[in-house]
Amino acid sequence: MSGTPALEAFRSFFLDTYEARTPEIERTDRIPDDLLKQVAELGAYRLTVPVEYGGFGLEMLDYLPYLEVAAMSSGSGRLLVHHTNGLWRPIAWFGNDEQRQLIPRIAAGAVVPAFALTEKTGGTGRDLHSRAVRDGASWKLSGEKHLITFADRGDWFILVVATDDRRAKDSLTAFLIPRGTPGFEIDTSQSMMGCHGTGHAFLRYHDMEVPDGQRLGEVGQGLEVALSFLDYSRVSLSNSMVGIAQRALNEAVAFAQRRVTFGQPIASRQAVQGHIAEMHADVNAGRLLVRHAAQRFQKGEPYTAEASTAKLFCLNMVGRVTDRALRVHGGYGYTTDAPIERIYRDARSFWFEEGTAEIQQLVVARAVLRAG
Ligand SMILES: Cc1cc2nc3c(=O)[nH]c(=O)nc-3n(C[C@H](O)[C@H](O)[C@H](O)COP(=O)(O)OP(=O)(O)OC[C@H]3O[C@@H](n4cnc5c(N)ncnc54)[C@H](O)[C@@H]3O)c2cc1C
Repeated sequence: MSGTPALEAFRSFFLDTYEARTPEIERTDRIPDDLLKQVAELGAYRLTVPVEYGGFGLEMLDYLPYLEVAAMSSGSGRLLVHHTNGLWRPIAWFGNDEQRQLIPRIAAGAVVPAFALTEKTGGTGRDLHSRAVRDGASWKLSGEKHLITFADRGDWFILVVATDDRRAKDSLTAFLIPRGTPGFEIDTSQSMMGCHGTGHAFLRYHDMEVPDGQRLGEVGQGLEVALSFLDYSRVSLSNSMVGIAQRALNEAVAFAQRRVTFGQPIASRQAVQGHIAEMHADVNAGRLLVRHAAQRFQKGEPYTAEASTAKLFCLNMVGRVTDRALRVHGGYGYTTDAPIERIYRDARSFWFEEGTAEIQQLVVARAVLRAG
């Protein structure tokens, strides 16, 4: 649709402008405000948002190349794009009229959403320790969350908590909470191995009063809210892994061509060519699995198993590719001067984001066993 940035402009922004600022982001663990403004002006937050909410309404197959390019830049660059282009969905699907008014502001980059499910003290899902107790026309929420992406800047938080003591699947409920709510503490002291600048934080709330109108979806629909965008997100994350793996391969190729040992560029050595060929095969296999899942989604076919298959493969693929790329760089790759050092750390976050490899194995195995 009109106004959609050209892929080339997107590529040059993320691989030149954004990339040039990554040392600063690594050093300060914060994305500079002027860079965030440029990301918003580029239209990066609008890509998948429906046209009626002020977005470009890109279909999944059209969106994925943009995300792949952002993922080639850095963990923070790709998380900016992935995060916002995913989080409008539960608000659009479960929100009331007032809550949905946030979506155009999210698309413009004027409002930062955050999604808070994971807890340090309680397992994810039905084991959550956070509680909401009804108090007339309001609720009192108590508990804590951790690892919450962009909580440092978050304006509105989708908070998933338990609404009764049964700890059963249907006891979870989601709320949409504005920053600044009395009793809502955002503690940004959590620091991460990689993906610097993405403002992960602990959230704490004790007897925090939340009007019933801030509920997102029905009472007991919290797990549905949390899972509603998960399949789409698994494809999107897999695609991000393809982007970062492609970048690792590109770095390895460039290094292998310029590094001379025993009078020859290491790219001429069969052992190094083996690494390059394996990386190339891995990245392309991942890209095809992602495309296969996206095609099924776009045709309206079931794609849960395909999304988890892509994610399971890509999780292992991005580990293998970044390992090989680091090895090709020799000791230089282990220094913070080498982009591969950051890429290697950034890539390790995928093991955990939005569900681990073990959980993908469960989904895939279940589908395979069902099919006999
Ligand atoms: C960079 C990053 C960003 C994140 N952003 C957010 C965010 O914005 N919002 C948010 O809510 N969370 C976020 N998370 C948290 C992330 O979603 C969780 O870390 C992830 O879902 C795993 O949950 P957990 O850490 O509680 O691990 P656990 O559930 O404690 O799992 C620990 C280990 O046990 C395995 N395991 C657990 N249950 C089973 C089972 N039933 N069968 C087999 N194996 C099992 C897991 O696979 C894992 O290996 C983020 C994490 C990272 C690293």
